[in-house]
Amino acid sequence: MNIILLGAPGAGKGTQAKRISEKYKIVHISTGDIFRENIKSGTPLGVEAKKLIDKGQFVPDDLTCQTVESRLSNSDCKNGAMLDGFPRNLYQAEFLKQITNIDKVINIAVPLECLMARLTGRRVCRECGESFHIDSLNGETKCSYCSGELYQRDDDNEEAVATRLAIYTTKTQVLIDYYEKLGVLKTVDGSKEKSDVFKEIEVLLD
Ligand SMILES: [Zn+2]
Repeated sequence: MNIILLGAPGAGKGTQAKRISEKYKIVHISTGDIFRENIKSGTPLGVEAKKLIDKGQFVPDDLTCQTVESRLSNSDCKNGAMLDGFPRNLYQAEFLKQITNIDKVINIAVPLECLMARLTGRRVCRECGESFHIDSLNGETKCSYCSGELYQRDDDNEEAVATRLAIYTTKTQVLIDYYEKLGVLKTVDGSKEKSDVFKEIEVLLD
């Protein structure tokens, strides 16, 4: 079973990806992680990607597509794979369609105002990177795991979040329309509790 996971920043995609991958024994492929791993281990792909990223440029579609294709040919993908962060545009979606079959595209939909509240209320631990939400902190300013100081990331202010979400929405709508036409798009209500969202996903995948 090959699936694609779509979800805005703050939609809880990471949590659901982890649960899906555990329950259905499919590999979670995040293009961001692949690039980071390659850069870390200095592979030719990593060297090339790092050059572009250091110059503030995006990794071009061809390089990203090649990377995903080679990752999908690994033996650990024989049960299927869950793609996260790919495809990002129609070019990549068309490429993917040519190299593999996509069974389902799960779109974790959350209303914009809810994403805004989640992201602007986020506080991150300076020491361990764990994130919290002010609603559950009750005024606490230290991390409950390591006692590190909690802070608000620069790009979690209202203006930056609004920009980020607007970009995401515009770019993703194209993919949503594309997969809707192919009849594989499934939308779940990501504004619910994490475990309820997962229950909705299970109904789609079981
Ligand atoms: Zn911490």
